[in-house]
Amino acid sequence: MTVKDKYDLVVIGAGPGGYVAAARAAQLGMKTACIEKDDRMGGVCLNCGCIPSKALLDSSGKYSGAKNSFAGHGIKIKGVDLDLAAMMARKDAVVTGLTQNVRTMLNGLGVTIIHGTARLKSGLKVEVVMNPESPGAKAQKKLITADRILIATGSAPAEVEGIPFDGKKIVDSTGALSFDRVPGSLAVVGGGYIGLELGSVWARLGSRVTVLEMLPQIAGAMDGQVSRTLMRSLAKQGIEFMLNTRVSKVEVKRTKVWVTAQNRAGESTIKCDRVLVAVGRRPLTKEIGLDHAGIKLGGDGRIIVDETFQTSAKGIYAIGDIIAGPMLAHKASAEARAAVECMAGLPGEVNYDAIVSVVYTKPEAASVGPTEEALRKKKVDFCKGVYPFSASGRARCAGDLDGFVKVLSHKKTGRLLGVHIIGPSASEMIAEAVFAVNMGAAAEDIGLTVHGHPTFGEALQEAAMAARD
Ligand code: FAD
Ligand code: NAD
Repeated sequence: MTVKDKYDLVVIGAGPGGYVAAARAAQLGMKTACIEKDDRMGGVCLNCGCIPSKALLDSSGKYSGAKNSFAGHGIKIKGVDLDLAAMMARKDAVVTGLTQNVRTMLNGLGVTIIHGTARLKSGLKVEVVMNPESPGAKAQKKLITADRILIATGSAPAEVEGIPFDGKKIVDSTGALSFDRVPGSLAVVGGGYIGLELGSVWARLGSRVTVLEMLPQIAGAMDGQVSRTLMRSLAKQGIEFMLNTRVSKVEVKRTKVWVTAQNRAGESTIKCDRVLVAVGRRPLTKEIGLDHAGIKLGGDGRIIVDETFQTSAKGIYAIGDIIAGPMLAHKASAEARAAVECMAGLPGEVNYDAIVSVVYTKPEAASVGPTEEALRKKKVDFCKGVYPFSASGRARCAGDLDGFVKVLSHKKTGRLLGVHIIGPSASEMIAEAVFAVNMGAAAEDIGLTVHGHPTFGEALQEAAMAARD
């Protein structure tokens, strides 16, 4: 049986793009439905991305702190034990709480939540194959029509050819968020965000972690000096790095996994207990009927949109990981608000120059705006101010001396271009820099802002003051 429903807006996907869009649309008075194929709301971010990874980073950070770094503060702890099952249960509870909050919030705003797999049909129609246990699922398929459709179906882990995930010994990020025991040794293919964050989690919990990265630096998009400092710090924590190394083959041989990699020295094989493959993510464009709707993809396989987030098909919009740009939750949410506001005739837009990136390792690395390398490549004349945390009173009190703040400003105008931080609380400190970049401020504006003492933020103020001729 087929049921027909009509909405002002149908959102496909309930990740940080989709659920934020549905909420904003309802606030603006649109009759809105949000279709999600998973039984839980929140998408990758809440279920198997940002949130569970940060929960494990926080827990493993406390464990390794108790084991290794409290002694420097005069605190001796004997018999620190790991209860991995409890740590995982806590992570799962954090996820459950947040996914339920999303459902409560959308219900409160009057958004209709439909659990099923959506597929575009020609015209502004969506066919939904309902999840068997959904309310009203007796009608296995629903046909929904809408004035507008927003695609926010996100992305999935990319596979390396010839290295299929088996979910046990060769896993993607979701697998590495739920190991049932600490692997004796873990090879991580890819030294990007996931490799560094989840590699850190398991290294802190006692695994011998080797990161194999095909580029000459880890966290490839980050400032070169930040990347080198991060690698040194992580190496001190026991993580081994093989740069300029491309993994070509992974084979399970009885209890071990053999990882074959090539670099300038030739071919080498590492034997380990488990392998995490974290080589990027692919947009989920297949199987949503883009061809029915006549939606065009770019060379990167992502949906092309205009400045209002409308695709090549009138009335169909797209946001988040499925369109160009960094695959980040806050970018997806910002696009969600902007897209819905454009639909409502409001001036919605996203300032892509002020999208922050953070790697939540210890030390944290956080960045907004172009790197020094990018400015040199574009031949932009710039000033640079750098302030090391070893000179910060607050960092000395905390015993967190690794890292620095780098501020880059335009030589002629003084305008703040980029800020790159590696060190304690970088993920929080960067917000001030993002605000300043977004407002078109000069580096001097931060330099002249009196920061509390002693705070980590003073390092940003000092670097900003130093970013002048
Ligand atoms: P998604 O979150 O992928 O949501 C898409 C939703 O659409 C999913 O729920 C999916 O089930 C649903 N869907 C797909 N197809 C259909 C269909 N046909 N019908 C119905 N529903 C469908 N980003 C950060 O900013 N900070 C972080 O710290 C961070 N950490 C991460 C850690 C990990 C391990 C991973 C994997 C990612 C992390 N990210 C982080 C990236 C972030 O999770 C994504 O950028 C973000 O979730 C993208 O949001 P989205 O709404 O575009 O898509
Ligand atoms: P990534 O793009 O950050 O890093 C992938 C790395 O794998 C790259 O450095 C690449 O050079 C390397 N690589 C590719 N093929 C290889 C091979 N055969 N051998 C060795 N190295 C190889 O991707 P990711 O770490 O998988 O994360 C996916 C995305 O999820 C990120 O780009 C980011 O957008 C998002 N994410 C964000 C956060 C955060 O904001 N803190 C955390 C996790 C994930």
